[in-house]
Amino acid sequence: AAGTASPALADLPLRPELVGEEPYGAPQLDVPVCLNVNENPYPPSPAVVAEIATAVAHAAGSMNRYPDRDALGLRGDLARYLGHGLGAEQVWAANGSNEVMTHVLQAFGGPGRTVLSFAPTYSMYPEYARNTHTAWVTAPRTADFRIDAAAAVAAIAEHAPDVVLVTSPNNPTGTAVDLATVRAICDAAPGVVVVDEAYVEFARSGTPSALELLPAYPRLAVSRTMSKAFAFAGGRLGYLAAAPAFVDALRVVRLPYHLSGVTQAVARVALAHAPEMLAAVDQLRVARDEVAGWLAGQGLAVAESDANFVLFGRFADRHAVWQALLDRGVLIRETGPAGWLRVSAGSPAEMDAFTTALAEVLATPA
Ligand code: PMP
Repeated sequence: AAGTASPALADLPLRPELVGEEPYGAPQLDVPVCLNVNENPYPPSPAVVAEIATAVAHAAGSMNRYPDRDALGLRGDLARYLGHGLGAEQVWAANGSNEVMTHVLQAFGGPGRTVLSFAPTYSMYPEYARNTHTAWVTAPRTADFRIDAAAAVAAIAEHAPDVVLVTSPNNPTGTAVDLATVRAICDAAPGVVVVDEAYVEFARSGTPSALELLPAYPRLAVSRTMSKAFAFAGGRLGYLAAAPAFVDALRVVRLPYHLSGVTQAVARVALAHAPEMLAAVDQLRVARDEVAGWLAGQGLAVAESDANFVLFGRFADRHAVWQALLDRGVLIRETGPAGWLRVSAGSPAEMDAFTTALAEVLATPA
């Protein structure tokens, strides 16, 4: 009867800016070799799995109660992990750095406000901006995907952004940003600056973190995640370091009890085993450098990467290449500027599968 049929999405009074939008996400396909979302390919050891299970059982015993709303134990552990003399009050945590960044834009963006970033960059940022009614503007990176400090300062002067988002190493290009450029951006920015260091643990040696700039810039924040190097993507834990007042601003906009008792407990177990959780990072750096070298050896363009993935191209029909790899059981990511594809660093067997499949595809006349 009228009124009981399930409505089509187009019949619902959706916010106009959401009409026609698709939920974000890479295809989640059941494929033997998944090199598409920059995960760490190595699961936790049986010993860590057992400790996680014990921690979950313990959390279950008090699940009638709300968890610690401020997650102070976890934030203290994260502060100790980061070092640099940070304390719990200088660290924020949420369900992935995606949520951390949403908190930043809820607190410092919003209607009539602007966030500036440097394209090409992480394709979720414009969606956080849309969801928080923040205007999204970009300045271009150089041809080799670096941020030119003078161009960045000029873009800041032009847009007077409330938030500047600097991704280092950048996704999907892998490009790290030097601290002199971050400093120039901080000196020029009228609002807050966030350096998204989701992949920083994979950076080549000598690449410094923006954490060391925090004492000099009270409006700077450095965002991190346990999803990549830490091999904890399923645990959903992202975090940020900043001045206590910056963190207080994020506390205003978070949902109460946003981090479940289970999340807090399991993240603390993982942090207690940080060296083990991070043990594959060196190996993944090697895998990245090897696959970058192999790709260059095929005559392809390869972006220099400080992350656990490599952007390569350029293909007249990148979708055809992506599909041909998928047909061979290898899932990579169709993302970035036209003609480029991105492959994550995986296990030796996964990298062999990828190079074998791509060699076949490259040898096949289009
Ligand atoms: N920042 C960057 C640059 C990313 O590439 C990603 C994940 N693809 C994230 C943040 C979000 O990661 P998570 O929410 O899992 O912490």
